[in-house]
Order: sequence, then C-alpha cells, then structure tokens
Amino acid sequence: MVYFFGLIVFFCVQSGVFSQSLIIDCHYSEQEAIYKSSFPKEVVDKQTLVTVQYYSFDKKLHQGQVVVHKDLANDIIEIFQIIKESQFPIQSVIPIVRYKWSDAASIKVNNTSAFNYRTISGTKKMSDHAYGRAIDVNPFLNPWVGKGKSTRSYNPQVEGTLTANCIVVKEFKKRGWKWGGDWKSSKDYQHFSKK
Ligand SMILES: [Zn+2]
Repeated sequence: MVYFFGLIVFFCVQSGVFSQSLIIDCHYSEQEAIYKSSFPKEVVDKQTLVTVQYYSFDKKLHQGQVVVHKDLANDIIEIFQIIKESQFPIQSVIPIVRYKWSDAASIKVNNTSAFNYRTISGTKKMSDHAYGRAIDVNPFLNPWVGKGKSTRSYNPQVEGTLTANCIVVKEFKKRGWKWGGDWKSSKDYQHFSKK
C-alpha cells in the first residue's frame, strides 16, 4: 500500500501536478554553448554558462541560458532574478550557438544573448559581445537606431520594450552597466555592456 501511494506521488511530481510548469527553452552544456574551434582559447576560457528564468510573452515561466564573462555572471544572476519577480517579459534567452552564431538570426526571433565572438556590425572592431561583456535584451523590440536610419521602429508603448524608467534598465545601470539607449549619436536600445 505504501509502495502504491509512493508510486502515485512519484508520477504526480514527474507530471508537474505539484509544481508550477516550467518551460525549458534550452539545455546546453558549456562545451556546446561556448566553444568553437575558431575562437581564441584565452577568450572562451573566460566565459561561463548561466541558467536564468523569466516570464515570456505567453505569461509562462521559462528557463534559458546565457554565456557571459565570468566576472559578470553574478550581475546577470541578480538582474534576472529581479526581472523574473517583476514579470517583465523576456522572449527567450538562448545561447547564440542555436542560431549558428548569427546575430541577425537571433534578433529576428527577439532572442536575448550575450557572448558572441564577432565584430561590431559594419566595422572591423571587436564588439563587447566578443568578450562576453555585453548582452542584447529583446533585440527585435529594441533596435539599433542611427541617424535617420533604423531597421525597425522603437516603440516604448509595446510590452517588452526597454525605456529609461523600466526595471531592466535600472537594475543593469545600478550595477555599473552602460545602456545603449543612453548613447548620444545613435541608440542601441537592446544593448548593455560593462567593461
Ligand atoms: Zn549588443
């Protein structure tokens, strides 16, 4: 009899009856998410894989992962904990390896990511993303806007859009991160970086 009830409890726990359902957006190993043979070893060795949870636009709790510089892992853990409590919607947080290291492909699906060994778009200069020192949040909704040109419109009224007063921007800035929405000549609303 005890065995029988034990079995029922086991199946209830397994099927999520007792727990709030959690949607796993990705489950990479460090090897899969960080390493690529063409990346410099001294750069990839400084990266770490952080697990985060967030409410997506379906109002459900999701779990994803982000690759950042080891120095910044604690900031990311703290900030995402606050974002989760506030229920500010984050589409998904999936390492860019899922998108074959293509920034454009990740932006297209509004995916949040950090480390990517790449140059600043349109230049030969390495991006802060190349060292895991920058993260792009909800990038489709929060575009780069240059002088009179932008790929998409920036509309602060749309849910998931970053503004100076939103909790996401405040929490990053509180920890010494710079926000692309504060840049003078152009704006990169998705972008946060810390040297
Ligand atoms: Zn960026």
